[in-house]
Amino acid sequence: MPISPKRLGGTCVNVGCVPKKVMWNTAVHAEFVHDHADYGFETAGVKFNWRTIKEKRDAYVRRLNDIYENNVKKARIDIIRGYGKFTADPEPTIEVNGKKYTAPHILIATGGRPAVPSDSEIPGASLGMTSDGFFDLKELPRRSVVVGAGYIAVEMVGILSTLGSKSSLLIRHDKVLRTFDSLISTNCTQELENAGVDVWKHTQVKRVTKSPCGLLDVTVASVAPGHKPTEAVIRDVDCLLWAVGREPSSDGLGLERVGVRVDPKGHVVVDEYQNTTRRGIYAVGDVCGRALLTPVAIAAGRKLAHRLFEGKQDSRLDYENIPTVVFSHPPIGTVGLTEEEAVAIHGKDKVKIYNTSFTPLYHAVTQRKVKCVMKLVCAGKEEKVVGLHMQGLGCDEMLQGFAVAIKMGATKADLDNTVAIHPTSAEELVTLR
Ligand code: NDP
Repeated sequence: MPISPKRLGGTCVNVGCVPKKVMWNTAVHAEFVHDHADYGFETAGVKFNWRTIKEKRDAYVRRLNDIYENNVKKARIDIIRGYGKFTADPEPTIEVNGKKYTAPHILIATGGRPAVPSDSEIPGASLGMTSDGFFDLKELPRRSVVVGAGYIAVEMVGILSTLGSKSSLLIRHDKVLRTFDSLISTNCTQELENAGVDVWKHTQVKRVTKSPCGLLDVTVASVAPGHKPTEAVIRDVDCLLWAVGREPSSDGLGLERVGVRVDPKGHVVVDEYQNTTRRGIYAVGDVCGRALLTPVAIAAGRKLAHRLFEGKQDSRLDYENIPTVVFSHPPIGTVGLTEEEAVAIHGKDKVKIYNTSFTPLYHAVTQRKVKCVMKLVCAGKEEKVVGLHMQGLGCDEMLQGFAVAIKMGATKADLDNTVAIHPTSAEELVTLR
């Protein structure tokens, strides 16, 4: 399958992190509207106009596209627009629009795309959209169904629901974000429900059909352990969004012609230096299938450039302790090992857990209360901090600094020796008992 030759910036800039964060910020406004009266503001009759923010968001993304294009040109790099594929020539060669190109170093950074079940697996599945389609929506959907339990499902359903779309989330198990620390998966599932998202657990889509009024009817089957299977129809859905994972954009590149191996899912196989199985061909980013995060791809690319062009032989990305944020409501910040992973690695009696759950001061005067939860995972006699997991107001911005400390090998005592900043939520992390 081809890779979009149209807009510079890839998924992150065009249909990922950047426009998503704009929509998350929009949703945060909608959340805080509920607190205005408590803070003394009279804001009755507040109206939200999807088109206004969509236009501004699209304009910002276009600006970024132009900035990228200018930067690339300033660096005297030629942009060749088209779908590239390796040829069968003896030297690694790429053909684009009928013209051949070769170089001593070739980097594959083609990213990925959302996975959608086929119509043979789930009849009518193709009537739904993905996160790409979300960014084309001209209006806020009245009725949304999001399928999936990962980052994208949680973020998309949060935005839709917070902005006022009646939203259901269909998950196969009983919690979202199951690969995260159990504190996060449990708390996030609860927060979605608290915020009014209708979470259908142990549920899968059976089929999708057009409803009489031109919208979608989504037939679902729920199979809760110990219960009889049930079927239900969610009617007149105007946004059915598949968020069931992403797949690599590696097909159609002709990798087999140059001996670049892919795994059974199509991810390009690389070693820790981003070398593929063919000398002179490298790969970074989502196409490799490891830590699908923009800053990871950028960091891996930088390290590779230092190695190839500055002679830094050992330059490679350390994939340990990568901090990440899920822009849920409230946001999640997490870095390092989950409690479960730490116990598996260090043994139960070598792992010490510090937990807290509190209502941030922001909510002291609001009727709406959203708590903040935090967990520190420490290992060994010296109580080295090996994991930090939190969900609450400000946790997105709080994580980066703590991630530096953890990457540097901070211990619980180091956190305790740091004077708290009062009153903040972050201070809880240096006053845990
Ligand atoms: P994820 O892999 O994070 O989650 C997809 C989840 O969907 C699975 O974990 C699975 O959960 C569930 N699922 C899989 N198949 C089905 C199915 N057939 N029916 C129902 N549910 C299914 O993928 P995403 O697409 O959400 O995100 C891809 C990656 O992009 C993320 O892993 C992340 O690295 C990156 N990303 C990062 C963001 C950020 O940094 N804020 C934001 C968005 C994406 P279960 O097994 O529990 O059913």
